Amino acid sequence: MFKLALSAGHGLYTPGKRCLKTLDPSETREWTLNSRICNKIEEKLKAYDGFELIRCDDVTGQTDKTISYRAALANNFKADFYLSIHHNAGIGGGSGGGIEAYVYTNVDNATKQWQTAIYNSVVAKTGLKGNRSQPLRSADFGELRETAMPAVLIECGYMDSTTDTPIILTEDFANKVAEGCVEAIVTKLSLNKKAENTVNQALDITYQVWDNTLKKWLPNVKNLDDYAGIFGHEAACIYANISHGNIFYKVHVKGGGWLPEVKNREDYAGLYNKPIDALMMKTDTGRKINYAVHLKEQNRWLPFVTGYSESDSNNGYAGIIGKTIDAVKIYIG
Ligand SMILES: [Zn+2]
Repeated sequence: MFKLALSAGHGLYTPGKRCLKTLDPSETREWTLNSRICNKIEEKLKAYDGFELIRCDDVTGQTDKTISYRAALANNFKADFYLSIHHNAGIGGGSGGGIEAYVYTNVDNATKQWQTAIYNSVVAKTGLKGNRSQPLRSADFGELRETAMPAVLIECGYMDSTTDTPIILTEDFANKVAEGCVEAIVTKLSLNKKAENTVNQALDITYQVWDNTLKKWLPNVKNLDDYAGIFGHEAACIYANISHGNIFYKVHVKGGGWLPEVKNREDYAGLYNKPIDALMMKTDTGRKINYAVHLKEQNRWLPFVTGYSESDSNNGYAGIIGKTIDAVKIYIG
């Protein structure tokens, strides 16, 4: 299973990183452009089997995750390739620019091959070749230095160039960049397209909760037909399976730690009589799993999350450490 770490550079509120006002009166933020492309890459990759993907940025844009955070996430995930999407600046309202792809200053051939593959494919799709004499570059960028796997940072045109800015703002351009990245990844890894009928085929999740108040398993629930759990009761264990592919999940015991990961219904996650306060889930289907938990004391749902990481309290797991869960709801996008 190939592991891809994808990062949209910066955050929505990162100072400076935005289009030049004279060229784009709404001063579109760099993160918005970066994230739009990352979302499209994720979407387009859904048509393929054989990989697992994590996002290293905050997909809501609210926080600018540090370079160390992003690199650690990719390193812990044991990613095989790290792709960071950025847009450039430095032309100051003049013309010219174009796409550039960076690797770290001292890299192996495998990394250089990724750099060439991504660059060539994105330029072929977009035509935004620009006028830089050295579009394949190396630099001591933190994301490239701190990541332990081949890493490429692509600058998808300049936000302050009369040539590039009108182009990079378009949806069409974002689509083409994403197509270019996906084509390079798919070709390099020989990923197979999913059978046509499984791409949009419904992928159902069936799940249930062990109720620590009633001391029994509650009935199974499918997708968002209902939620599993009873408000005001303590949830202690979770059991789940999906209609094709595999699901992996684990829970955090309140006042304790994370329990081992379980797969499908080979075991359940949790311990009878031990209330849980966090849950993480992932699948190997390439589809996004969305899961949310309801807090017993606060009597409210937390937002859906999609990640799988103990170190990412934002999107890596559902729940708040120390707050008992009483219900969960899950669906696969
Ligand atoms: Zn940037």
